[in-house]
Amino acid sequence: MSATARDEVAVVGAGLAGCLLACFLARRGYPVALYERRPDPRTGRVERGRSINLALSERGLDALRRIGLADRVLADALPMRGRMIHPVSGGQEFQSYSVSGDRAINSISRGALNNALLDAAAALPGVRISFDHRLVGLDPTSGEATFETPRGKVTAAASVVLGADGAGSAVRGQLLGYGVLTESLDFLDYGYKELTIPPIGGEFALDPGALHIWPRGTSMMIALPNPDRSFTCTLFWPTHGTASFASLGSPAAIERHFAEHYPDLVPLAPNLVDDYQHNPVGVLGTVRCTPWQVDGRVALVGDAAHAIVPFYGQGANCAFEDVVELDRCLDECGDEWSAALPLYQRRRQENAEAIARMALANFVEMRDKVASPVFRTGKRIEHT
Ligand code: FAD
Repeated sequence: MSATARDEVAVVGAGLAGCLLACFLARRGYPVALYERRPDPRTGRVERGRSINLALSERGLDALRRIGLADRVLADALPMRGRMIHPVSGGQEFQSYSVSGDRAINSISRGALNNALLDAAAALPGVRISFDHRLVGLDPTSGEATFETPRGKVTAAASVVLGADGAGSAVRGQLLGYGVLTESLDFLDYGYKELTIPPIGGEFALDPGALHIWPRGTSMMIALPNPDRSFTCTLFWPTHGTASFASLGSPAAIERHFAEHYPDLVPLAPNLVDDYQHNPVGVLGTVRCTPWQVDGRVALVGDAAHAIVPFYGQGANCAFEDVVELDRCLDECGDEWSAALPLYQRRRQENAEAIARMALANFVEMRDKVASPVFRTGKRIEHT
């Protein structure tokens, strides 16, 4: 049976893509069942070292404007008009993202953005959100899904199931298990760790109008400003080896390393050793899979379909573009899902592949080339 307009749609994952999808679908008149494995994040605490602030660019803002949410989100964001390079020898050098100097990408906490999207989805009458529901089974032919909940397993059926459950997608895993999808996962031997630069005397310790970069060749650190006047730093470094996260085993070794390679950070980060020792190392990788949809009934959106490394700052922006494109395909196909989902895949898959490659290439640029003279004209750089 092919799904038709106004049957219930199940969205798995109430992250950035899932909440945005729920908003777009409810506005089209669909009843939406949104399932999330976590408890409601609006009532909880952020996991240590996993705050992640995002650079939200025009691609993402376009999606938010379409549901009237851009102004609310931008109220919690800080515009960054260029890169501020921190050489090891000291000093800082600003490289504008645009010739005019007035174009910016926006620093926003992923949690704040997720909460704004959850509020928007929850406010729509057609959306029912079930937290503490972890998808553990999905029959792609019937659309029947099984969820683990604190009260035991529950099943639910929907005409269409959209997997927006992130890089480790359980929906993708189920399709893989049924033999209707293939995937490749390419992990970098680099990981990331968050560190914090708190405010000094209630003020930002660095220029809040820039994305700060410490390019160091085999390692790199970036820092994005937060509304509480702190900065969240993200250090990218190999996970193993003689120069790696695993190589700094004592407070003295941590202090020595940062004094040598990131000397201007040391006086700005009083909790450096504690952050370094207790914040987790996150993994970085690229997810590719095909197809993105099965029989016009089950499809993948956002990181579930195409997780990328974060060096172009485009993962969430790209997930938002998926949602806009899927909405456009539904328009063009008169809400006939069996036509709209293959069209959505055709239009988005090659774009996702392009940004996946550019994100990997930008790692080399950010950790190395931004510090070289040819990149110091401040002209042609339009991204992180
Ligand atoms: P997610 O945000 O991962 O959401 C998935 C949701 O599904 C989560 O709520 C999860 O709990 C839920 N879920 C998972 N499994 C299940 C299950 N079995 N059942 C039910 N629910 C489930 N992007 C940018 O655009 N700009 C940036 O500057 C940027 N910087 C980044 C920096 C770092 C260090 C990292 C790691 C990522 C960065 N990204 C950035 C990427 C961005 O965070 C992701 O692309 C984005 O979060 C993807 O959104 P999503 O909704 O597809 O997945």
